[in-house]
Amino acid sequence: MYRRVVPIQHFVTTTTAVITESFSPVSRAVTRPVDPGNDANCAHCGEPVKFAARHQRRQVIANVYLDSRWDRVEHFHEDCYEAAGSPYGEPGDQLVAPPRRRPG
Ligand SMILES: [Zn+2]
Repeated sequence: MYRRVVPIQHFVTTTTAVITESFSPVSRAVTRPVDPGNDANCAHCGEPVKFAARHQRRQVIANVYLDSRWDRVEHFHEDCYEAAGSPYGEPGDQLVAPPRRRPG
């Protein structure tokens, strides 16, 4: 005796929302401080995005997706990113600082 009847109906009554199905990665940019040892070149002006101890330089890092697949990372000077017309949208800083908790 090895027959089991699985009550399938029991499973299909719950929600069928699938989040991953509608997920499609898009190119996006974040603003981050320039790290010492950073050796990337700016995708706009071609100059190195260098760390400078005196100035708190910031760079824009963009993850570029092509056909919903990650293709490359591009670095920009913060000013150059704006000069280039913010090609990957408004740079966020969500990778730098966690979301603040609301007081209360
Ligand atoms: Zn630049």
